[in-house]
Order: sequence, then C-alpha cells, then structure tokens
Amino acid sequence: MEVSLESKILKVIKEKTSKEGGVIQSTLWSMLGIDNREGTKVVLSLVRKGLVKREPITYKGRRTYMLIYSPVKSAKLNIIVKLNPVMYIPCFTCRELLRCGTGGYYNPYKCLLLSHFIEETE
Ligand code: SF4
Repeated sequence: MEVSLESKILKVIKEKTSKEGGVIQSTLWSMLGIDNREGTKVVLSLVRKGLVKREPITYKGRRTYMLIYSPVKSAKLNIIVKLNPVMYIPCFTCRELLRCGTGGYYNPYKCLLLSHFIEETE
C-alpha cells in the first residue's frame, strides 16, 4: 500500500515535534527528497486542516518556517436530539403503509391521521 506524501510529511512533523519541538521546512524537504513547491502545497493543506502550525523563523540567515504538529482541539459539542415526535408518526404503525402513496387511495397528502399528527407537533 502506497503511503501518501501528506501522511509521510505529517508523520515526520509529528516525530520531530515530539523530539525537537518541530522541524525546519527546508530540512523536511531534504529528509523526504521533495522540492519546495511540492512540499509547501502539502504543508499548507495540513495547516488548513488544523494539524500543523507554520511559524516564520530565520535559520542560517535565511527566512524559513518551523513546522510544528499541533492539532486543533475542537470543543466538545453536546447535541440533544429528541426522537419522541418521530416515534409517534402514525405511518410507522399504519396497516396501510405498503399501499400508501401519492395518487393512491391511501395517500399521505390526504391522510387525516398524518395531517392531525403534523398539526399537533407544530
Ligand atoms: S400517510 Fe396515512 S395512510 Fe399513509 S401510511 Fe401514513 S398513516 Fe397510513
């Protein structure tokens, strides 16, 4: 199985961050044998995904970037979904469900049970 360039880059950044606090961008290119253009494109994608921070630094008199693995921690989200109204939709217990359809004798557009249910839940 071929490992994507993005996975390789992320793996190196993770390892270097845990050992050395990050990796200098040009060092990463030489470690992986890739060119600046190709690598920058992937790194910017990782930055947009919130997995990597790219901090400007000066290294050996040249401006470059320190790449640091720092996944953005998303806030916990609590969503309460009430399923009770759904459970009481009359169609779920209707004997005519398989014969019901638009244009037929049993028709959801004309059904009093369904209309009544919808009016009560609004
Ligand atoms: S729309 Fe009415 S007739 Fe059709 S399945 Fe639902 S409850 Fe039954």
